[in-house]
Parts: sequence; C-alpha cells; structure tokens
Amino acid sequence: MSTSNPSSSLIPAYARLPVSFERGDGVRMWDREGNEYMDALGGIAVCGLGHSHPSITAAITEQANTLLHTSNLFAITHQENLAQKLCSVSGMDAVFFGNSGAEANEAAIKLTRLHARKKNIENPVVITFNGSFHGRTMATLAATGNEKVHNGFSPLVSEFLHLPYNDLAAIRKHTDNKNIVAIMVEPILGEGGIVVPDDGYLKEIREICNEQNWLMVCDEIQTGMARTGHWFASHAENITPDVITSAKALGNGIPIGACLTSGSAASLIQPGHHGSTFGGNPFSCRVALAVLETMQQENIPDNAKTTGEILKTTLTEALHNRPEFKEIRGRGMMIGIELDTDCTGLVNKGLENRVIFNVTAGNTVRLLPPCNLTEDETNEIARRVADSIVQHCEAKPRVAEA
Ligand SMILES: *Cc1c(COP(=O)(O)O)cnc(C)c1O
Repeated sequence: MSTSNPSSSLIPAYARLPVSFERGDGVRMWDREGNEYMDALGGIAVCGLGHSHPSITAAITEQANTLLHTSNLFAITHQENLAQKLCSVSGMDAVFFGNSGAEANEAAIKLTRLHARKKNIENPVVITFNGSFHGRTMATLAATGNEKVHNGFSPLVSEFLHLPYNDLAAIRKHTDNKNIVAIMVEPILGEGGIVVPDDGYLKEIREICNEQNWLMVCDEIQTGMARTGHWFASHAENITPDVITSAKALGNGIPIGACLTSGSAASLIQPGHHGSTFGGNPFSCRVALAVLETMQQENIPDNAKTTGEILKTTLTEALHNRPEFKEIRGRGMMIGIELDTDCTGLVNKGLENRVIFNVTAGNTVRLLPPCNLTEDETNEIARRVADSIVQHCEAKPRVAEA
C-alpha cells in the first residue's frame, strides 16, 4: 500500500510509503512517531557511511561556515582536491562535476558525441543494455533500457542501441556498424534487479572497445564508491574504462555527480563544451572529499566486502528452504534476493519489522545498506529482512506456476 496525500502541493511524481523520517544516526532512522528502523537501503545507495556520520557532519558545518559557492568562473581548491583524490582511487585521469547521476551520464553521453566528431561520424550510436537504468533526463532516459521509463516521452534522443545484458555475442554482431562510438554499461544492473554479469564480461567489453576505438563508459553511479568491495566495481576485472560516472554515495546525501575520464577521453571536453552552475562548488566538493577520506580511513571497500558476505550467508541460511526463494545475487553491500512470489506489500512488511529495503525488477528484494556496518548491525539487518520475507510469504500463497 503506497499513499499519496491528495491535499499536497507537490506534483505527484512519487508513490510514497506511509512513513516519514525525522532523524538518522549510523544505520538507524527514526520516524515521526519515534519508532526506530534499520536502513538497509541507505537512501538508494546514497548513504554509504550511514546517517549523520561525525566526519561528514564536521565537513558540512565547517564548509557552511566558510564558503558555499563561487561559480566555475573561478578556480575551486576543493574541486581540484576532490578530482585528484577521485583519480587516485579510481585510476582515472580527469573529472567533470555535476549535481546528480543523470548529469554525470549526460556529460558522458556528450563525450561520446565529441568522440564521434573526432572520428568523423555524423550519426553516432551508443550501445546500452536491456534492463539498464541511466537516469531520467531526456538523453539518459533514452539510454535506459526500460520501456516504462521511455513511455510518454517520445520523440526520444537518438541513437541508443539496446542489446541484451551479459551477452558478448550480441555486441560482436554489431562490430561492423561504423556508426557505433561507445558502450555504456553498468558493472552490475542496479534498478534492473542486481544482475551480476559473468566474470570477464567487462574485460571483454574493454577489449572490444579497444579493437573498435569505441569509448567504454561504466555507469558506476550505484556500484561505485566502495559498495561492491572495490572503489569502483570495474576494478574487479582490472580494467580502466574510458569513462566512469559516479554520484549517489559520492556525497553521502549532498547532491554531487562526477564524470571521470581516462586517456584521450580526458581531453575531449574543451572550454565552451559543457558546464554547470552548481557543479563542483566548494560545498559539495568539500563534503565529497570528506566522504572519500573517511572511506579510506575506515577501509570501507574491505568492510563492504566482509559485511556483504555475512549478509549473503545469513540470508541464504534463513531463506534457502522457502519455496519462494529463487536466488541471492550481488557483490559487497549490493544484494538482490529474487523471490518467486508476488512482492506487493513486502516493503510494508519490512517497515512493520522496522527495516527499510525496496523491491526492484518486480520480485527482487534489493539491499543497499551503508557500507560501514559492524557485524552485529549486519546480522540484525539480515534477521529483520529474512523475517519480513518469511512473514510475507507465509501470508501470501505462492503464485501457481503457469
Ligand atoms: C540512480 C542511478 C542513476 C541516476 O542518478 P540520479 O542521481 O537519480 O540522476 C543513473 N544510473 C544508475 C546506475 C543509477 O543507479
């Protein structure tokens, strides 16, 4: 049951759940009635360091007392420092800052157009994948491989070629299409249901892009910033993409997005090609810098790996005997539990058990908790999630096989 308030002055863009939060601390949040919840969704992969982390709060207060915004007419020290730090953890060479994931991907898509100009290609095509999600702006919704996101918004920005995910042969079939200039890929499908491709998939895409002089763009907006046990999920295959996009956990709740580039992609954008009023301002960059420094100090990539393993093992033990349990997937603190049942009401069952998660791609429970949890917190989340799923399944007979 989702609610919308008919007397609200808001455009009804969202179906809201019947809870509203007032306060957060670490992995916990409190609603308006004072009930305590565990947050296994982290504001959709945003709060990688949990709520009200003292180092982040300190950076926010300090910078708010110093300087919020100057515009990009001037050099911005925190922007330079953040770019340098991002390059050092990612292995990339140069960064452009925006304010969101979609904007980071817009910058990446503009880069593919500039790459096309260099190759004298007039009608460039970018390969993206079925089940992908790249954002809600006009270009990024067209890139997204999901018709529900397209519906109502034609004519779409051309040209995106949507191919099946985790299918290298499907890509190879198009290698003689001279208009293709790039492949844009999520290392793990997020909105698409936590789909983990076969080992070697990204490495092979890197190879194809090298052979064809295509840009390899990794959308790491959800998978990045330590979540999968690496700073960026593409690191698991020891590759350097031409472009990595980042947002979500980069600011731990402060809006910021980044388009990271390497090699020749780093010099495609020249003055006049792109810009943003807010992008990279002293405030958001100071905070994101604190996020990176804190993640380094607290060894968050490793913590995401170990707590993610605990979550997976504990949830598998608790659920593997349920007939509705199909599969648990994911890496680090990016986990999907696919159920063979109608999941309507399951999120509300979670809220009754005081745990926050969501359901994506129809029947996959998605967990994106903070990446700095203790073992005890991780076990407690696993228990509450498993209880919620079991209670939901017991209340709801399994959908008969067709
Ligand atoms: C969330 C997300 C986006 C869009 O980010 P916004 O900040 O909502 O614009 C793009 N790509 C992926 C993979 C995402 O998870």
